[in-house]
Amino acid sequence: MSERNNKDRKFATKLLHFGADIDEHTGASSVPIFQASTFHHHDIFNPPQYDYSRSGNPTRQALEDYIALLEGGKHGFAFASGMAAISTTFLLLSAGEHVIVTEDVYGGTYRLLTTILSRLGIESTFVDMTDFESVKAALKPNTKAVFMETPSNPTLKITNIAETTAWAKEHGLLTMLDNTFMTPYHQRPIEQGADIVLHSATKFLSGHSDVLAGLAVTADEGLGRRLKTLQNGMGTVLSAQESWLLMRGMKTLQARMEHSERSARKLAEWLSSHPLVEAVYYPGLADHPGREIHESQSLGYGAVVSFDVGGGDKAKTVLNAVQLPLVAVSLGAVESILSYPAMMSHAAMPREVRLERGITDGLVRYSVGLEDIDDLIADLDAALRA
Ligand SMILES: *Cc1c(COP(=O)(O)O)cnc(C)c1O
Repeated sequence: MSERNNKDRKFATKLLHFGADIDEHTGASSVPIFQASTFHHHDIFNPPQYDYSRSGNPTRQALEDYIALLEGGKHGFAFASGMAAISTTFLLLSAGEHVIVTEDVYGGTYRLLTTILSRLGIESTFVDMTDFESVKAALKPNTKAVFMETPSNPTLKITNIAETTAWAKEHGLLTMLDNTFMTPYHQRPIEQGADIVLHSATKFLSGHSDVLAGLAVTADEGLGRRLKTLQNGMGTVLSAQESWLLMRGMKTLQARMEHSERSARKLAEWLSSHPLVEAVYYPGLADHPGREIHESQSLGYGAVVSFDVGGGDKAKTVLNAVQLPLVAVSLGAVESILSYPAMMSHAAMPREVRLERGITDGLVRYSVGLEDIDDLIADLDAALRA
């Protein structure tokens, strides 16, 4: 990274001046897209820094250094999707080992653990991480890791990151945290002791519903080397084109998050007093049970609000009646996205497990975009009354 990249600068400045923001050779205002699979050896006795794009690509490397800087880590890794980042990272574990996981983890992570890694002999126990005692109770002789997601998806439950990572360290456990919902603008888990931070960069980091990507960051040298070996060995890398597009989106992360969060707070307050809404989940609400812990470890509440409209039929009516948000899987984009966890992100979860985790048939998840919030509220109000 160049000297222009100063770690002491504020987050908004780092987003724009991250080291590869100006091309060293030409002065170009963005890092070139190195659309090459292989690299010439000018001198066979002195192998080049890059030799094959699965093992390393300068455009991808710029993105990897960028996310490492933003998360306060040292080593970043870019993958073809969030699930590619998460699945590759889980391969730090071996057959016979056990991981403790947030119970309302992202549906894809749940599916990975229960249908794929389970087959390879990697065991998992899902616990309610709002209750630290149940985390401790899940410890087994073969436990090797703890996987957190906070706020969780879609019920926005809060895990105490510092408490969990301190306990994990005492027991020699690796800690991983899916930071997709908060992004490094609002939450930097490495500062709270997490070993590895993971992202579906498909969401807020890229921000425009046009890129599929995943990221992993660690501050630890040894873990960095192991992740590099896995990324190269599995071949789950992000392409140069997508790396460039992701960096383009990330430059506006703070501007987007600030706007969307302000709107999300307004939406959550409005929903809380709506007669047709049974429950609202948002860590910024005064009555959210995890609010204090969340405020101690995060700089904001994010742009995702989940709420219960009272039943599956009502939820479907609302989803069909809204005019403004995309009705879709995914979140974290310039346009608002309304999704239905029971039939979308958490469809892989058996109904009884889903209900146990508070993902009811009436629960919908609103990811607030950059539209005018008054228009979004008027639109949702009409849909709720439909
Ligand atoms: C979307 C998502 C993922 C998976 O990411 P993909 O890019 O879709 O593979 C993982 N975790 C969370 C919290 C997500 O929202």
